[in-house]
Amino acid sequence: MWQGLTERLQNLLSRWRGRGRISEEEAENWLRELRISLLEADVNLRVARQFVNQIRERVMTPEVMEHPNPFRRMTQIVYEELVKLLGEKPEPLQIASQPPTVFLLLGLQGSGKTTTCGKIAAMFKKQGKRPLLVAADLKRPAAIEQLEQVGAQVGVSVFTMRTNSPESLAQAALNHAKTNAHDLVLVDSAGRLHTDDELMDELRRLKFALRPHESLLVLDASTGQDAVRVAETFENEIGITGVILTKLDSDARGGAVLSVRAVTGKPVKLVGLGEHLSDLDVFHPDRMAARILGLGDVASLMERVESVVDEATARKMEERIAKGTFNLEDLLTQLRQMRQSGPLEQLLSFLPGFSGLGAPRLQIDERKLKRMEAIILSMTPEERRNPDIIDGSRKRRIARGSGTTVQEVNQLLRQFKAMRDTMKRLSKARLSDKDLMRLFGGF
Ligand code: GDP
Ligand code: MG
Repeated sequence: MWQGLTERLQNLLSRWRGRGRISEEEAENWLRELRISLLEADVNLRVARQFVNQIRERVMTPEVMEHPNPFRRMTQIVYEELVKLLGEKPEPLQIASQPPTVFLLLGLQGSGKTTTCGKIAAMFKKQGKRPLLVAADLKRPAAIEQLEQVGAQVGVSVFTMRTNSPESLAQAALNHAKTNAHDLVLVDSAGRLHTDDELMDELRRLKFALRPHESLLVLDASTGQDAVRVAETFENEIGITGVILTKLDSDARGGAVLSVRAVTGKPVKLVGLGEHLSDLDVFHPDRMAARILGLGDVASLMERVESVVDEATARKMEERIAKGTFNLEDLLTQLRQMRQSGPLEQLLSFLPGFSGLGAPRLQIDERKLKRMEAIILSMTPEERRNPDIIDGSRKRRIARGSGTTVQEVNQLLRQFKAMRDTMKRLSKARLSDKDLMRLFGGF
């Protein structure tokens, strides 16, 4: 998915590559094209206009118009504005302090409600919860059967009842959950092909009777602006707390993802990425923005980094970092590993569009690595383990021994210390996507 939008955005941004000062007219033309690209990706008209205005405000400043690397600066701005548009941070699902937590899933027929009920149940079951699925489609026996199949697949119970009253159903389902110690109730409501008054009335009553902690609207992302219109209707008629976008694995044009939050004011909380019950993810605005720009999925990149570095070595390093005993001997090991496999360059080649976007690639200078290695090899084991004892006379000896200069020895020690500090910080918190972007020289 995104193919079209990603390509258009990359083309638009590339225009600033290697460019000098940008004129106001050029920027204005560029912004117009940006707006057209968004509209072609089926982004809501108002959202596209607002987004472009936001970017205009940041671009039409001397800082950007006269930036030495306008390509990089513009990419950064578009990325940041995309993250903002998508909602900045993942929005967690509300869990009740007094169980059971109740989630009501709403949406048109075919949007993926029943499937998503199963996915959410599977996700929480893995976390040790005891979910109950509730079939609240009062009209279609087939819908109930489908939920029963999904329940059997996940291994959770399904509550069904023949009634015409949403109130009785809600009451009975909640009682059933309480007496059977279910701490999560997932209600699969009725859908229609289109929103109509009768459906809205039934869902409103169901919601009132259930008092759910989340009213989640399930939207088929591949339907673009239609999905956004449906979202507006549900938000106005019933009130929702969040959105679940399904079928992001299909060739959605991007319009629904980019518009739904701005139009409804409600966050996207989860995304469906396939038909399998494990194809559900928490929605990460920053990752989505990176994907839209073709920067690749930074989190999966991180997983690859971890798999490229020899595992045993990595674990040993981690321990040392955590203990704060990372020293020059470890750095030597790392330098050698980097020289052997060039993991970062190799990694970057995995990312479609990464080099295309011209984010400065990490240059691993073979010669420099060798000199660094030589410097460390000229140190005594004690100096390697405890670099703080390296004074002026030791530095001169090391420089002579390695055929380098005292400046180079100083530089290596400085780099090592900076590295040690960064590692200490990073060992406390897992890398954020922003850290990674910085680490890889992207932003
Ligand atoms: P409901 O009518 O809202 O309950 O929708 P269903 O759960 O029955 O889903 C309708 C169709 O969409 C089914 O064929 C599902 O397998 C499919 N589906 C649901 N979610 C996803 C998704 O995230 N990706 C893909 N590719 N298909 C999905
Ligand atoms: Mg269904």
